[in-house]
Amino acid sequence: MHNFSLQMKKEGKTIGFVPTMGYLHEGHLSLVRKAREVSDVVVVSIFVNPTQFAPNEDFSKYPRDEEKDKLLLSKEGVDAVFIPSAREIYPDGFQTYVEVTKVTSGLEGESRPTHFKGVTTIVTILFNCVMPDAAVFGQKDAQQAAVIKRMVNDLKMNINIIVAPIVRESDGLAMSSRNIYLSAKERKDALVLSSSLRFASEMVAAGEREPEKIIQEMKKKIDAVDSSTLDYIKIVDSGSFEEADILAFGGEYFILIACRIGKTRLIDNVLLEVPVQQVTAP
Ligand code: AMP
Repeated sequence: MHNFSLQMKKEGKTIGFVPTMGYLHEGHLSLVRKAREVSDVVVVSIFVNPTQFAPNEDFSKYPRDEEKDKLLLSKEGVDAVFIPSAREIYPDGFQTYVEVTKVTSGLEGESRPTHFKGVTTIVTILFNCVMPDAAVFGQKDAQQAAVIKRMVNDLKMNINIIVAPIVRESDGLAMSSRNIYLSAKERKDALVLSSSLRFASEMVAAGEREPEKIIQEMKKKIDAVDSSTLDYIKIVDSGSFEEADILAFGGEYFILIACRIGKTRLIDNVLLEVPVQQVTAP
């Protein structure tokens, strides 16, 4: 990987990088296209990173299809696919981790306490392998993107972090490799994540500014679906990821939801841009 990237740099080419865990879908491919827009060479990694899964999570059954992934990436004209083994990444004696505090503390960090330490460590390792000029992440994992931006900023990594919008199925379900776990009924039930977020956006558009009221209405919708178990609904400032008490005029917020449908844990979110207050002349 180093040799490839050094050669590209020698030729004066910029490198755009998309880290993934594979089992690729249109969401991943949208990131690849974004990387292509901003760089000469596109590198995609496929690595199901064991350190970001807790022991009780789905690491061993996480869906994998390397051959199909490689085919999809070659159709996109990707220049290199980096598929390291777990032993290469974490050889015997490995003992170095990267940890971001604060922005990792709530939401996913609270539900999955060891998750972000695994993410920031693997992303740092992959950045060191690929040496990209730009890296593209999805808003689907909005907190992860904020954590990576914080890390890159704090550690002075010279990499442009780009966040691309969520790609959805035609009925609104956010694309995810984990959607394959859903039964036909659960697949329908899973629509409650995106529909409750849409409902929340409409409440804000209609003038609602109290996060608690919005969350209560969303909870009612989630509770009405029998296969659902809500983990959290939070409304946070889009930069700091701190919970908002009120939606301020001109503010930017995420509404984030994590919910189990049957045994499958799904996440989704929407970005809210609250308009600036209009002042009308008397
Ligand atoms: P994963 O393979 O799930 O680790 O995801 C790899 C990258 O793809 C992450 O930056 C995700 O945020 C992004 N991603 C996953 N699903 C989507 C989606 N539906 N739309 C946009 N980006 C996505």
